[in-house]
Amino acid sequence: MGVVRLSGPDAGRITRALIGDRELTPRTAHFARFRDPAGEVIDEGLVLWFPAPGSFTGEEVVELQGHGGPVILDALVAACVHQGARPARAGEFSQRAFLNDKMDLTQAEAIADLIDAGTRESARAALHSLQGAFSREVNELVEQLIQLRIYVEAAIDFPEEEIDFLSEGGVADDLNRVIDQAGAVLASARQGRLVREGLTLVIAGKPNAGKSSLMNALAGHEAAIVTEVAGTTRDVLREAIQLDGMPLNLIDTAGLRESPDRVEQEGIRRAFEEIRKADRLLVVIDSQEAGVNLNDLTDLLPSSQQELDGLDLPVTRVLNKADLSGLSPGPHPNQPDTFVLSAATGQGLLALRDHLKGAAGYQGTGQSRFSARRRHITALEQALAALAKGRDQLHAHAAGELLAEDLRAAQHALEEITGAFTADDLLGRIFSSFCIGK
Ligand code: GDP
Ligand code: ZN
Repeated sequence: MGVVRLSGPDAGRITRALIGDRELTPRTAHFARFRDPAGEVIDEGLVLWFPAPGSFTGEEVVELQGHGGPVILDALVAACVHQGARPARAGEFSQRAFLNDKMDLTQAEAIADLIDAGTRESARAALHSLQGAFSREVNELVEQLIQLRIYVEAAIDFPEEEIDFLSEGGVADDLNRVIDQAGAVLASARQGRLVREGLTLVIAGKPNAGKSSLMNALAGHEAAIVTEVAGTTRDVLREAIQLDGMPLNLIDTAGLRESPDRVEQEGIRRAFEEIRKADRLLVVIDSQEAGVNLNDLTDLLPSSQQELDGLDLPVTRVLNKADLSGLSPGPHPNQPDTFVLSAATGQGLLALRDHLKGAAGYQGTGQSRFSARRRHITALEQALAALAKGRDQLHAHAAGELLAEDLRAAQHALEEITGAFTADDLLGRIFSSFCIGK
């Protein structure tokens, strides 16, 4: 079957030009013949008419369901275009639904996420978002912020009593409650993004430190080539694995070395582009190497990888080859985010796996309340930062004006999630990533 969907005020007129002038009952299948402008029948099938505003896009919508096949569908689309329609842009149906208030932005995004879902867990999460689970939680936060703002603004209007008003009025308690709640939503959003995109981990370190071996150990099979000759891994190697249901995208950077070769330079440039988008850097160190400064990345990376130091990615360190150095496997006794292990024997690997899941905020399978994207997480983090700043202002100066400003900033950040407040270029970026016809 092939479906052509028309949306807009001319949908009905265009349809009648194809099937002849006849009465259509809303949301009811009608059998019809679809004719080209010369009157020749292209295909026959069903017509469904959804009058505005009770349709997916909120506009008049018609679905023409034919037998499908590229030739027939092309002819059907051409006949519609001849009557004044134009092909939809990527995501345009969803975008119109959003613009006509049929759904908010997280729901529109969830449609794309549902279609693109790679696992049942991510599909389930996307469906929850589509049904409004994420929006509801964000809107609840916004509602509480509005209440707080009303209160604080009122206090500012009565300067003589402002300080009492703010200190006695339970504002601090309310603010703390909102902060806790926003933190919980952020944790769910992190999980929602994780099941969708996974954690992207860049593995770096000196030649022979054991990067490929560690990748293989994490992956549980021979994905990367392990040899004793330094510089074996020529290209950037990607491997997608799962840690107890959490997708983990591994990038091995062994191919990053200084090279006069133009082709190789281009490969290295692309590798850095990908690395910039990663979530975490995993630096592998041979634990037999004595005297390295664990807090100085330039000491731990070969010169060709030292650019990674400037990337501001959170860092996990692995002291590998514990079986040779005699260090006891597990979390490092006094260095945070540092793990002693043996990629060869697997000792200490479990602690690293747990750490990676914890650092990513993974809560386990079946725990996804909605799907989320990086932009949602950024917005929630901004809102939380503004709220924390407001709490400090209140604490330090009982300053209503400053608190009001922070509350306003937090509300704006949250409204960007649902699209109640959006920049136009944001909409363009979101909907252009959809497939055509959605
Ligand atoms: P890379 O260059 O950082 O990717 O290092 P490789 O993974 O290719 O490993 C270099 C060499 O160290 C290989 O001979 C590995 O077998 C060896 N190796 C890696 N990890 C361990 C380990 O934990 N213990 C021991 N004994 N050898 C290891
Ligand atoms: Zn390697």
